[in-house]
Amino acid sequence: PSKGYVGIQDLDNLAKKSFPLCMRHLFFNLRHDHHLKFGGRQQLGLFLKGVGLKLEDALNFWRSEFTMKMPVEKFDKEYAYSIRHNFGKEGKRVDYTPYSCMKIITSTPGVGDHHGCPYRHFSQENLRAVLEDQQLNPRAVEAVMDKVRNRHYQLACATTFEAIHGCPSDGINHPNQYFEQSRKALQC
Ligand code: SF4
Repeated sequence: PSKGYVGIQDLDNLAKKSFPLCMRHLFFNLRHDHHLKFGGRQQLGLFLKGVGLKLEDALNFWRSEFTMKMPVEKFDKEYAYSIRHNFGKEGKRVDYTPYSCMKIITSTPGVGDHHGCPYRHFSQENLRAVLEDQQLNPRAVEAVMDKVRNRHYQLACATTFEAIHGCPSDGINHPNQYFEQSRKALQC
């Protein structure tokens, strides 16, 4: 995709290659379940806005997923508002910014929620399985798990980035920054 603009057709590929684990998890759960609870819609929706998805595309994307399981009228009535709201088109008309790692790490996802940070909120078994699924070699997996045990979640994320991209990261403190770094790393 050209810089600054991302269309719906780009999302699957970008999610696989350049989304941090927190956003991959939300994105593929949405694709699979055709639903996300509020915390997940906020965390992923604002991230996608930061990635460059425009309001009309965002509405179409969420609508096409949610209406696999509910009538269009219900989506338009109950869900479209908060998407427009996040783009500053409703309510106080604030143009909301995507969540930082700190905000995501300190969130408290409940049962059935998919938001949060996998390094902070997944069980060790789950996280290990996800890392292996990302083709991290055993040494890299151990390096990540070690940082998680010491509660250095953002360092664990940076270690994952380095293992996946084969180049150093500048440190991770925001999911959109992970994304930008990944796009840069994959172009060179
Ligand atoms: Fe997402 Fe930040 Fe956690 Fe990485 S450290 S998975 S970017 S919240």
